[in-house]
Amino acid sequence: MRPAQALIDLAALRHNYQLARELSGGRALAVIKANAYGHGAVVCAEALSDADGFAVACIEEALELRAAGIRQPILLLEGFFTADELPLIEQHQLSTVVHSDWQVQAIEQASLSTPLQVWLKIDSGMHRVGVAPIEAAGLYQRLLASGRVGKVVLMTHFARADELDCPRTVEQHKVFLNAVAGLKAEVSLANSPSLLGWPQVRNDWGRAGIMLYGATPFSAPHAVAERLKPVMRLQSKIIAVRELPVGEPVGYAGRFVTARKTRVGVVAMGYADGYPRHAPDGTPVAVDGQRTRLIGRVSMDMLTVDLTDLPSAGVGSAVELWGTQVLASEVASLADSIPYQLFCNVRRAPLVYQ
Ligand code: PLP
Repeated sequence: MRPAQALIDLAALRHNYQLARELSGGRALAVIKANAYGHGAVVCAEALSDADGFAVACIEEALELRAAGIRQPILLLEGFFTADELPLIEQHQLSTVVHSDWQVQAIEQASLSTPLQVWLKIDSGMHRVGVAPIEAAGLYQRLLASGRVGKVVLMTHFARADELDCPRTVEQHKVFLNAVAGLKAEVSLANSPSLLGWPQVRNDWGRAGIMLYGATPFSAPHAVAERLKPVMRLQSKIIAVRELPVGEPVGYAGRFVTARKTRVGVVAMGYADGYPRHAPDGTPVAVDGQRTRLIGRVSMDMLTVDLTDLPSAGVGSAVELWGTQVLASEVASLADSIPYQLFCNVRRAPLVYQ
């Protein structure tokens, strides 16, 4: 069998969830959209059997969880796309984000027999989805008056909470607080970077995504983020070794040329597995527990690493592309990406649960 695998450490996932809940100061939704950021939504949800609830992007993702027997609250972060989804939302007892007034109207006109749980999203400055702050109180009252809604949680989403020296989060927080002044409702503001780095915006419901998977959202070291444990280890093996003299190109386009006599290790891992093709020469890779570097362009199924200083490494040696020896955030920043994208892109390499 091809040795490329993504090992998923469920104990680390549970550890990270507990940290998210502790930092939430209240309850925490585990954000397991996009197949739990590539980690497998159903298995992650089952592993988090004591989670306060889950968040997914859309109804298809929620129905997969319900079909697997997940009973906790599930929030649809993108809300519903047409009014036809409301009966299914009711039937499967899902909570839905409402981000636009057409959705409020759809709820007012829906024929439902049990009250919906709605999270009213206010656009405090991200300017993606969310109702205008000035309309928030009116829409909130309309939802409650519709007779179709049991509870309304008020929420917003921060655009730049991963930038700890940027005032934008404080500004968005103020806009949100003004918009909801006087409304008696639970609130939800914090994603991972705000849970980890902005204690002043803790709230009733944290919404923890990337931190669950053990990756820091910050570009610099951060004391609280250090408490996270990486969940995914993308691993494979060396499948061939060759010795090259000085001046020889390695791989497509000859991007890397040997500057010394070089032992090249070929790893069964490529961009078809989700390893980023844009990873530059020098990107760290661990072989038999020791860090070395990527050399040469990443191909579809293989990549090449420098084994010159690791004389005992050879065919069959264990390779970690990211995990605990090489952090996904290191690879991501070198490849002009983010750990979110690296995790979501993992495919072909099977998920193996520990
Ligand atoms: N809340 C909302 C509305 C989101 O869209 C997301 C993810 O994009 C999250 C929370 C989780 O964010 P993070 O992965 O940064 O914790």
